[in-house]
Amino acid sequence: MTHSRNDAAAAATPPMIKFLDLAAQQQRLGPALRARIDAVLAHGAYIMGPEVIELEHALARYCGAAHCVGVSSGTDALQIAMMAEGIGPGDAVFLPAFTYTATAEVPLLLGATPVFVDIDPATFQIDPAHLEARITNIRQAGRLRPRALIGVDLFGQPAPWPALNDIAQRHDLFTLDDCAQSFGAVLDNIRLGRAAHATATSFFPSKPLGAYGDGGALFTDDANRAALYRSLRTHGEGTTRYDVQRIGMNGRLDTIQAAVLLAKLEVFDAELARREAIACAYDAGLADAVTIPARVAQSQSAWAIYPILFADQAARSAAQARMQAQGVPSAIYYPKPLHHQPAYAHAHDGTALPVSEAIATRILALPIHPDLTDAHIERVIAAVAQGR
Ligand SMILES: *Cc1c(COP(=O)(O)O)cnc(C)c1O
Repeated sequence: MTHSRNDAAAAATPPMIKFLDLAAQQQRLGPALRARIDAVLAHGAYIMGPEVIELEHALARYCGAAHCVGVSSGTDALQIAMMAEGIGPGDAVFLPAFTYTATAEVPLLLGATPVFVDIDPATFQIDPAHLEARITNIRQAGRLRPRALIGVDLFGQPAPWPALNDIAQRHDLFTLDDCAQSFGAVLDNIRLGRAAHATATSFFPSKPLGAYGDGGALFTDDANRAALYRSLRTHGEGTTRYDVQRIGMNGRLDTIQAAVLLAKLEVFDAELARREAIACAYDAGLADAVTIPARVAQSQSAWAIYPILFADQAARSAAQARMQAQGVPSAIYYPKPLHHQPAYAHAHDGTALPVSEAIATRILALPIHPDLTDAHIERVIAAVAQGR
């Protein structure tokens, strides 16, 4: 290609659509956001200030859980929940092979062993039949104690909790819902937050309910667990600050992040509705060109991610390049299942996980933030569908 043709192509490219547009969201939130932050600057209670308590109450009310405990990140939420159960060496923690790295990192940090489970090829959620088979394997091998299940609500959709809870109950497993991507999603007319013994979520800026920094929360209906979570997030403190009852961590949610989240919670339902409308527009525009995401039965997604499937890796690469040339961004969640990660491979027992491996080569995420315009949506659809 000559230099002049390159220049012509560059000039013709419309501006890049944003995969995530926090600047547009900040503008839309307007003075309410500033007022919340200014209130924190005025009272100065940066650690465990009144906004943290207000947010915990608001979030518990929002999802119907009895208790909410604000923490420093989604990863720390998972870790505190596992620490509270005393999970450690010799314990098997079942979790999907196709998820964000943090889900497997936490049991490994605590000395436990993650047992990777394959996923459903249509919904990408953990496969209950394979979970049951993996628990049976581990019991028969006799080396590890089956202790816990971390079910991940992947991409905004709920995991199949009725089936997971049935299995967990029969095998006496602690259930932890990794809801980092899916706070706000609904299953069987109930918001996530009560689907498992405990639910962990993340307020990382790109999540459906995102802060302007790190943050997370734990939800539970169990008062004893909630009390342990509060103790563990503040160095294992007892009834007074310098009474250390257990080994804990510095895992508190910042007051300023709580203030940002209180402002964002006001518009959260409208944002979820906009994400749903974008997903439906993509479904209608793309169903003939690619595999559109299957819905988990009886659920409403929070649409953290809109994933499509191509026939193979070559088709995905070609589409990504074509989209990029037209100013349409995309992302691969996840290019590698966790049992193929160099840091985690040693923990894997070699069980085949063919669905996770295949999906990793075919999946692609389209932009789905609430500030996409209808014109943006049309451009995304045209870029993906063209050349099929
Ligand atoms: C983002 C994410 C986490 C971790 O949340 P952080 O707040 O970034 O620590 C854990 N699990 C899943 C599935 C996630 O997507």
